[in-house]
Amino acid sequence: MAGPAFSTDLPTPARALAIAAHPDDVEFGCGATLARWAAAGCAIHHLVCTDGSKGTWDAEADTTALVAVRQDEQRAASRALGGAGDVVFLGWPDGELDTGLRQGWQVAYWIRRLRPDVVLGHDPWKRYRLHPDHRHAGFLTVDGVVAARDPHFFPEQAIPHHRPSALLLFEADEPDHVETADEPAVAAKLAALEAHRSQFRSTMHVDRDDPEAPAQLEAFRARIRARLADHGALAGAPLGEAFKAITNL
Ligand SMILES: [Zn+2]
Repeated sequence: MAGPAFSTDLPTPARALAIAAHPDDVEFGCGATLARWAAAGCAIHHLVCTDGSKGTWDAEADTTALVAVRQDEQRAASRALGGAGDVVFLGWPDGELDTGLRQGWQVAYWIRRLRPDVVLGHDPWKRYRLHPDHRHAGFLTVDGVVAARDPHFFPEQAIPHHRPSALLLFEADEPDHVETADEPAVAAKLAALEAHRSQFRSTMHVDRDDPEAPAQLEAFRARIRARLADHGALAGAPLGEAFKAITNL
């Protein structure tokens, strides 16, 4: 039986803001989309809600140093995607993000300040998602769009309200939209993911001390490419990234 019809490829926005719980989430969720837009002249901005301080399997790790490393990695990843915009870190402790008024204030502020045409973020309604930060970052994204667009939310911010034209939710529970990916965008997504070198072991299952590391890295790249193929197939495209698209903002 035929599934729902998927829409594809929004008009390339002038500005996009990707909101993530952790460094690297955006590269997994929408890296190829951001890379294709950046190549077409879109300004790419990042907002990372947590400090990523729990992103290691090493119980003895210096987590203060890890935070700085992960911020550098996120900036490198943004450059790999072709991003020339801001990379903002809210710095909430990893694993302890909450959907609170203060966090919502911050997200609305950055949407108003950066004025993206398209906002991208975690789908907060993804069922059986375990990581609380992804859930909270998703709700902060949705709530932040609402607060940013309405002039009577947070008037003390004293900057004009801003209504994006589209919200794309990645890891979508019920995807209905695909942004297609071309080979340069796939290469940029992989380069951006691989910029998160501190995550090689825990997230990408690449152990750089292991003689099998090159094969492990190839396997990781193959998994990413397979996912792009699966998502693209939803809309009859060779490669893509799937989203829940909300355009009546
Ligand atoms: Zn994450």
